[in-house]
This record gives sequence, C-alpha cells and structure tokens, in this order.
Amino acid sequence: MSGVDAHTHAFPDSLAERAIAKLESECPWKAPGDGTVGGLLESMDAADLDISLVCAIATKPDQTDGIFKWCKSIRSDRIEPLPSLHPDTEKKDKWVRKFAKAGFAGMKLHPMYQEFPLDDERMDELYSAAADEGLFISPHCGLDIAYPPDDDRASPERMRRVIDRHPNLTVLCTHLGGWKSWDEVEKHLIGTDVYMETSFTVQYLPPERLVDMIRRHGTDKVLFGTDWPWARQDTELAEFKKLPLTQQETDDILYRNAAKLLGY
Ligand SMILES: [Zn+2]
Repeated sequence: MSGVDAHTHAFPDSLAERAIAKLESECPWKAPGDGTVGGLLESMDAADLDISLVCAIATKPDQTDGIFKWCKSIRSDRIEPLPSLHPDTEKKDKWVRKFAKAGFAGMKLHPMYQEFPLDDERMDELYSAAADEGLFISPHCGLDIAYPPDDDRASPERMRRVIDRHPNLTVLCTHLGGWKSWDEVEKHLIGTDVYMETSFTVQYLPPERLVDMIRRHGTDKVLFGTDWPWARQDTELAEFKKLPLTQQETDDILYRNAAKLLGY
C-alpha cells in the first residue's frame, strides 16, 4: 500500500454537477474535482493513492436510506464509503447497527450542514450505538468556510465533551481536530485517543507547528486526508511529503494508521 486519503467526498453521478455548483455558490472556493466517484478514482491514480474514504452527508432525515444504498453501491477495494445519519432520523441506534452489519467501518457527521452541536444530547443514542458496534464517527471539526467564524457547533471543546461522555467511541477528527481552531485543539484534543486527519492544514499551519502538533498528538493517530474534490490529491500529497517527518512517521500517516482504523 502506498497511500490512503482519509477525507474525500463524492456524489451520485446524476447529482454531482448540481451539488458542486451549489456548494461552490456558498463558499469562496472552486472545486478542482467534478464530485463523481469516477473523477475521484482518476485523481487517486494520478496521485498514486490506493484507497479513499468517501464521506456522505445526509442534510435531511429522509436522505439516510438513499445515501446508505448509494454507499453500498460504490464500495470497492479502493473506495471506503462513510454513510451518514441525520440527527433527526428516527431510531438512530438501529441505523448505526445497520451500517455496522453492512460492513462499513465508520460514518460521517457534519454539525453545520446537519444543524446540531457536536455535544448535543440527542446524539448520545448514536454515539453509544457507534461505540458498541465499533463503528467510528468522522465529524467535521472546527470552523467551516461556508459558515460564520463564530459558528462553534463543531468546536474542539464540544468534541472533547463527546469523547469524555463516550470513552469507547472511536473518532476520526477532520482538519487536525478543528479547522482554523488549532489553539483550541491544543487545549482540548492533542494527546487524547482520537484519530485526526490532515486535510486543509498543510496550507494553513507553518510546517514546524504542524509537525510539532502531529508528534505531540501521536504519529500513530494521524492520517493523511485532502477533502477532495475541494483540494487536489496530488498536490496535497506532494506538500505533505515535504514536511520534516521521518520516513516511518510519513508511512504511518499515509497508510499504516488508516489500515488500523479500517481494520485491514
Ligand atoms: Zn470535507
């Protein structure tokens, strides 16, 4: 294995163009990818990445089932989809068991697009079931480019409350614990048991600080991620490889830790 991208997105072919256009209209970025699974696979080939975790986000309760079916349909030895459960979907514990039974390793959550604070008590049913089933959660963490800078629904402090309440829950935090919230990450998450992935950090943190945070958190708990199609996989990987990490640390972050998280 040479590399795993622990944070990508894709949409069904029939929706991809519209979904990307809508998301682009809400943020100052343009997506370098087209949002399809085919486009993702081409990008993975170009970047020499073996596997991508593909995050789906249910923005309405009635999307949960359709997303679950789509995730099953795109799953392959190179695509590891993370289905998504909306906070207002009924019987969340049953859905989590369904995801686990279908063989999914984890599930995606997005506090802004799904309108809930991470430590919302109505999510405890989901978190407890995920912990029981050994299914990890990967929530968006920190600020989001499409939301105001005072939106703290995905803050490191709230994440910390979740893991304190659910010590057996496995968590993959995006954006090294919280996009543009790295001082709070230092305070609440560095050194805890959560996994973290690196998307949208290499361009935002000085390399010395990024490497220092990765090492203090634990190089056995950090995964490489890009947030494709919002960033290019090949250039993100090239930038990541320039970080002053040892070969062993680089390999752990590029694929060994992901293999452990995915149960390979
Ligand atoms: Zn993302």
